Amino acid sequence: MTVLHWFRDDLRLMDNPALYHASQQGPCLYLYILDEAEHPGGAAKIWIYHALADLDAQLQGHLLFFRGKPEDILPRLMGELDADLLTMTRRYHASGVRTDAHITDALASQNKKTAIISGNLLWEPEEISKPDGTPYKVFTPFYRRGCLNAAPPRQPLGTPVLNHARKQAKGAVSLDALGLLSGRAWENTIAQKWDISAKGAKDRLDAFTNTRDRTGLNDYAEGRNFPAKSNVSRLSPYLRFGQISAHQAWYQAAENRDRQDKQLDIFRSELGWREFSYSLLHFNPALKTTPLQPRFAHFGWIENARHLEAWQRGQTGYPIIDAGMRELYQTGYMHNRVRMIVGSFLVKNLLLHWHHGEAWFWDCLFDADPANNSASWQWIAGCGADAAPYFRVFNPVTQGQKFDADGHYTRHYVPEVKDMPGKYLFNPWEAPADLRAAAGLRLGQNYPEPIVDVKASRQRALDSFAQMPKASQ
Ligand SMILES: Cc1cc2nc3c(=O)[nH]c(=O)nc-3n(C[C@H](O)[C@H](O)[C@H](O)COP(=O)(O)OP(=O)(O)OC[C@H]3O[C@@H](n4cnc5c(N)ncnc54)[C@H](O)[C@@H]3O)c2cc1C
Repeated sequence: MTVLHWFRDDLRLMDNPALYHASQQGPCLYLYILDEAEHPGGAAKIWIYHALADLDAQLQGHLLFFRGKPEDILPRLMGELDADLLTMTRRYHASGVRTDAHITDALASQNKKTAIISGNLLWEPEEISKPDGTPYKVFTPFYRRGCLNAAPPRQPLGTPVLNHARKQAKGAVSLDALGLLSGRAWENTIAQKWDISAKGAKDRLDAFTNTRDRTGLNDYAEGRNFPAKSNVSRLSPYLRFGQISAHQAWYQAAENRDRQDKQLDIFRSELGWREFSYSLLHFNPALKTTPLQPRFAHFGWIENARHLEAWQRGQTGYPIIDAGMRELYQTGYMHNRVRMIVGSFLVKNLLLHWHHGEAWFWDCLFDADPANNSASWQWIAGCGADAAPYFRVFNPVTQGQKFDADGHYTRHYVPEVKDMPGKYLFNPWEAPADLRAAAGLRLGQNYPEPIVDVKASRQRALDSFAQMPKASQ
């Protein structure tokens, strides 16, 4: 039997159950389709380009590339290639689920089979439910009562022995012809910060788990809060596009560690947040657009294009916000603590709709993820399941002082303030003018004045939230 494996968010050979299944059935063909209807963001396209180049090399050049609608391409291609079975890894976002169901039906009418196999989540959404059978809406019971009491995640699989079928396919294009790269200099600059390959994913996981000092997993529970420290894994883009599986991370983190180890427990619970986001997406297909708490549909967001652009460009006049937004644009990544601070600033201090934040992150993040991004923005805005309460407004000055106390992170990304003393690093407008002058900082000239007053804008947010219909309405 000839099998066609359709790679999507599972761009790996190792621990890929659907590919493994394919390998056991007979000679395999491999395919990637760039489907613009899925709206991949600018950064994601760069990541996908390099990940595909690496995957194709691992498959000795046997990966076929197509551009267009999978519903149009696959039924024709399966016939042309004389393939009997299409394998794919299960996905969870509504448009993907719809497409996969459509293709399954179309192939069934041609007497061809499809196998949609779970591979990217530790627990499938249907496996984790409350005793009454409904899905959890709060993270801690979801993870502690649900996931940790369910069967443990499967052990990772090895790399399958693949027997490549050699066939030509009409309409296949080169990787470059997919048009993932547009030639902008930014594409090279941000890609250079990462090793976008299977080896890069493995090296990163090894570097995170095999440390002897207080970097990586050894001090994850505490160090993960500080953007200048190297305690977080930075695995998110690799997990997003499936270059490494959550199972590999889950089990490798536990090697040589006690099962009760606090660092391990907290790291695994962060992987649990990913599971929770996917559960939310599965049970709420409109997660990207529709607030989980319906009363937020009546919230009085305001529109202000100038403020939105200042936020996007890292020109708000609040150094910790600007550092985060510039980290995002320069590296395709932002540290989680800073994602929360910039998110709160957008939706609370600027009162801009969380959709704006979700869209900008979707375009700029290498890890832009249909579940994690939407769920996290709903969390930040206070309208999600188990969300940060609306009255919790992060103060960008005190957050900077607390989580970047020596200023390494902020000085790196906002060189305009790098010579400011620590006391005024996060609130330079409060510094005496001569001190600013000595540090080369000219507010309103080489760095902006704060675009809003933090106290007044906090009060405005609280007033707006107070006007919303109550939860029961
Ligand atoms: C506004 C906002 C938007 C976000 N958008 C995304 C996104 O598009 N894609 C994305 O992967 N994460 C997103 N996150 C979650 C989180 O910030 C990142 O997963 C994390 O910073 C990735 O860095 P890391 O791999 O070093 O994390 P680690 O701390 O090393 O965690 C390991 C893995 O656990 C998962 N994880 C960790 N924290 C979370 C979380 N809060 N929610 C869900 N999964 C988590 C990720 O897969 C991560 O790679 C967002 C958070 C916020 C506040």
